[in-house]
Amino acid sequence: SHHTTAELIRRADEHSAHNYHPLPVVVSSAEGAWMTDVEGRRYLDLLAGYSALNFGHRNPRLIAAAKAQLDRVTLTSRAFHHDRFAAFCAELADLCGMERVLPMNTGAEAVETAVKTARKWGYRVKGVPDGQARIVVAADNFHGRTTTIVSFSTDPEARADFGPYTPGFDVVPYGDIAALRAALTDGTVAVLLEPIQGESGVRVPPPGYLPEVRRLTAERGVLLIADEIQSGLGRTGRTFACEHEGVVPDMYVLGKALGGGVVPVSAVVSSDEVLGVYRPGEHGSTFGGNPLACAVALEVIAMLRTGEYQEHAAALGDHLHAELNSLVGGGAIDAVRGRGLWAGIDISPGHGTGRQLSERLLDHGVLVKDTHGSTIRIAPPLVISKEDLDWGLARLRETLES
Ligand code: PLP
Repeated sequence: SHHTTAELIRRADEHSAHNYHPLPVVVSSAEGAWMTDVEGRRYLDLLAGYSALNFGHRNPRLIAAAKAQLDRVTLTSRAFHHDRFAAFCAELADLCGMERVLPMNTGAEAVETAVKTARKWGYRVKGVPDGQARIVVAADNFHGRTTTIVSFSTDPEARADFGPYTPGFDVVPYGDIAALRAALTDGTVAVLLEPIQGESGVRVPPPGYLPEVRRLTAERGVLLIADEIQSGLGRTGRTFACEHEGVVPDMYVLGKALGGGVVPVSAVVSSDEVLGVYRPGEHGSTFGGNPLACAVALEVIAMLRTGEYQEHAAALGDHLHAELNSLVGGGAIDAVRGRGLWAGIDISPGHGTGRQLSERLLDHGVLVKDTHGSTIRIAPPLVISKEDLDWGLARLRETLES
């Protein structure tokens, strides 16, 4: 039977939890930077699955890798070895300039893994007294949705009614080095940061902040954990956003694009010293590091090694920011932030909410998503052509001017 958009949305509303408020479009297929809905209308995707689709929808190399693996073996559990695991761990560690990998599935699981790892390292290596480990995080962070992670969120929507909260976290303003220095105690095992805050509106810290955090954490024997789940793997024009500031963290937390938009793949990547703290039975995941995940992620890593996605994101990102900055001061846009193919746009009061702008763009065939009321985020697949991006920007300009 033929289902219209309205009927499919009504049915989803009736049978699903309302923990999202999707734009009123029902996608049925996609390729590259374009999605097609159940009515046959085409849309340019300027969200890219919150950066999980850095390589575009159904990237041919990733689909081929997945299909080949589907015909061999998809899941063994970690009770047994499988023949893609060693390559995945070795290649990912090498891409990160690190030594060891602990694979999980979703971003939140990898952040949880980073928290557990830092605590265990604190007790076993740093010598923090039992139960005293503390982790410093930034205000306005977004690291996921588990009970522990929302415990150190400062967003009331993410936190309210989900207590009791996990203790052991100290929140400091993002970008404020003095506040961070003051928060470090003898029990501090780690500083956990997004090198660019994604969900809070693509906020780039002041120049010099990350290098100073690196210097301070090294001096105090504190791990620097970079949550590059959204900022990493090419988005900003480099493999890691930390690279723009010449910073090498002690631990990368990766997810989203690592699974190529095909399967959920996340990981913590770090040193022998840090990931060496684990013994069998102390942590794990049924699906973490499964053969299908490893096969797709291996192709992602091979693609990133060419450097072409980073280069394209850097060059087209400069173009994107030049175009967006030319709109600032025209009355409709207050500020543009970001790096590479990643931008947060604050809409001026009186020009509608982010949601309203997103809905008007949808009517013009462009998909974006609002965040925090008055901000929209632009994060196209890194494979987008200049022509398609310019077409999307023309629709944005029209929509802002109307
Ligand atoms: N960390 C960052 C920086 C993110 O942007 C996200 C998702 O938006 C997460 C963690 C959580 O990832 P997931 O939704 O896969 O749990």
